[in-house]
Amino acid sequence: MTWVNFQTVREGLDFSDVLEHFGFETKANGRAQVKICCPFHEDANPSCGINLDKKVFNCFSCQTRGNVLDFFAQMEGFDPAKPAELRNAALLAVETFGIDGGVQEAKSGNQPKAKQRPVRGQKRTAQPPKPAESSEVSDAAPGPVSEPKSASDAVSDPVVNPPLTFELKLDHTHPFLAERGVSKQLVSDFGLGVAKKGSMMGRLCFPIHNEAGELIGYSGRWVDEDKPKDTPRYKLPKGFEKAQVLFNLNRVLAKREEGLTTTTVVIVEGFWSVLRLHAAGIPVVASFGDSLSEAQVDLLVQAGTTSAVLIFDGDEAGRKGAVLALPVLASRLFVKTVPLEDGVKPDTMGADILASLPRYVRS
Ligand SMILES: [Zn+2]
Repeated sequence: MTWVNFQTVREGLDFSDVLEHFGFETKANGRAQVKICCPFHEDANPSCGINLDKKVFNCFSCQTRGNVLDFFAQMEGFDPAKPAELRNAALLAVETFGIDGGVQEAKSGNQPKAKQRPVRGQKRTAQPPKPAESSEVSDAAPGPVSEPKSASDAVSDPVVNPPLTFELKLDHTHPFLAERGVSKQLVSDFGLGVAKKGSMMGRLCFPIHNEAGELIGYSGRWVDEDKPKDTPRYKLPKGFEKAQVLFNLNRVLAKREEGLTTTTVVIVEGFWSVLRLHAAGIPVVASFGDSLSEAQVDLLVQAGTTSAVLIFDGDEAGRKGAVLALPVLASRLFVKTVPLEDGVKPDTMGADILASLPRYVRS
């Protein structure tokens, strides 16, 4: 059993070192207060204030705040609100920065296993933690003495696409939505809106949820006619792993609560196609582009899907993508493809194709 001494970890963490570790340039010059571009939302102007002395941070834009350990945890993909994840973050912090007394083994005299892994930071010292000072230990009750599980096992698997701790403020009445013919019902179902600030500003944001319905990111589509040359039309959060997510799977699963179910799911490339098919009552997910990963097929199988209809866009990329996706799908599910003519996408295909697609059924 490895005990984590949270107070010692917080006290032992130097906020400047943590910032440097993650590559932030603060130019503190001895000042206690610094500002950085907030890593927890798309931030063009520095809106995350940090008090280096008090070891706290506060983003004025997305409202993410906390102490230095919370900051470190979220940077490493852990949710500091979840005790088990905060514990893993603390173990990793101890390992990265070499904080004396941050962890200790319940079995006295044991060398802590948590320290054995090669570290990323340079500031680590090789000293083992001090012997137990039981008054500071609060994380775990002393249980039966067993071989300590290596902390590196626990921390080497950070959560992919962790749930966001904030929601963007969006304009749900932006004229672009009406121009694109997006109904109020769809705006409401999908939470669509144009961001008013941050670096998603001026983009129509599609909130992305995992299969459990937790918000894990936004994709922002540029809405203005004239798009600066080097600006991508769509923007996903840095580090977002789209191959691990199926857009709209959460809503397909949520239909079960209304007594509606399906074992067949339609797979398309993008958001607009999902909007159209969803509005027509079709169980549909999007793969975020013209490829499909094993992990995405896993998600379908876990959702109880037994067959799929693959409708990628009617262009070269879509056709090539479908050829590659088919064997991945066919190894797990019954698959059918609907080839589209050149220039046609599921959001523009004929009503006859739409009518032929599977619907939800009352379970
Ligand atoms: Zn922020």
